[in-house]
Amino acid sequence: TFTPAALLVTGGAGFIGSNFINRFLVRNPGCRVVNLDCLTYAGNLKNLTAVENNPAYRFVRGDIGDAACVAALLREERIDAVVNFAAESHVDRSITGPEIFVRTNVLGTQVLLEESRKHWQSGAVADFRFYQISTDEVYGSLGETGFFTEETPLAANSPYSASKAGADLLVRAYHETFGLPTLISRCSNNYGPYHFPEKLIPLLIANIIAQKPLPVYGDGSNVRDWLHVRDHGAAIECVLKQAVPGSVYNIGGNNEWKNIDIVNLVCDLLDGRLGRQPGENRGLITFVKDRPGHDKRYAIDASKLKRELGWSPSYTFEQGIAETIDWYLANQEWVAEVTSGAYRDYYCRQYGEA
Ligand code: NAD
Repeated sequence: TFTPAALLVTGGAGFIGSNFINRFLVRNPGCRVVNLDCLTYAGNLKNLTAVENNPAYRFVRGDIGDAACVAALLREERIDAVVNFAAESHVDRSITGPEIFVRTNVLGTQVLLEESRKHWQSGAVADFRFYQISTDEVYGSLGETGFFTEETPLAANSPYSASKAGADLLVRAYHETFGLPTLISRCSNNYGPYHFPEKLIPLLIANIIAQKPLPVYGDGSNVRDWLHVRDHGAAIECVLKQAVPGSVYNIGGNNEWKNIDIVNLVCDLLDGRLGRQPGENRGLITFVKDRPGHDKRYAIDASKLKRELGWSPSYTFEQGIAETIDWYLANQEWVAEVTSGAYRDYYCRQYGEA
């Protein structure tokens, strides 16, 4: 097993990274965490108020593509593991503006890899890991049956997933070519607290509260596998500490839902909580033109992770989704803050109204 002493977490102000840091620092009091994030629209330091005064935590505002900044942090903080969450992560944005996806997700990852290689080869730390947080979307789309395994060929269909696949291949290449001790995990859709409200579940919750239309792509029959973000964090910790360098793990909840069924479920759970009539929120559903290249179905076979490292999810979907809805209801101030300004402009372009 590998016990890190100082983690460089990139993109730690985003949805999954902040949930990971909050959880990891509580569970690993002997480990320091440096969070490198350039704070795009998706990064929010309000996600990290629980750890901001923890002496084992440090935030640095910077870009993963800035080699000098990355090199200095690796050296000065004696970093022995990099966990790379930093990315442009929203598929719709990658269709209207793919360039930044290549810059951050591909070139940014390459800079992190190159600086990590130099740092590791300098012998500054006894052991080292470079851990790339990836997505099941790199595998492309499935038909009605079957699952993605770690052996499924990469067949990305959106500029977002293509940029993530490019990064995965660079990580693989740094392991094969230079022997850098790398890890990759590919996870299905996450849900939970601090999820930016452009993504399906928090968008639904926000619009239902505001009684705004609920945009659903196509006929809503696309299928996704959903995992609670804290279960993803637990899986990452497991892989970081136990996996053999060079390995790849799928992470998933074995929890497939059609988009329209998720929409109906969230509508129904909010009827009661908002004192509305049963079925009332479903009236807000509005089908919109399908996303180009919209993958039909994703489903993950996470049996390797269960078998080899003993991980399994702790949340049932029923419990996780109810808790998530209650979290959003209790944290309306957070929602208002992250949905101001730049986000509203984007939302107008995408859906034609604010
Ligand atoms: P997010 O968009 O919420 O957060 C991304 C973070 O990266 C933000 O804080 C942003 O400021 C930061 N960032 C962006 N560009 C940067 C740069 N150049 N330098 C430094 N920081 C930068 O994304 P998320 O949903 O938390 O996803 C995190 C990672 O997990 C991504 O790599 C994503 O591909 C992957 N992933 C996400 C999901 C999901 O369901 N959300 C599923 C599987 C994998």
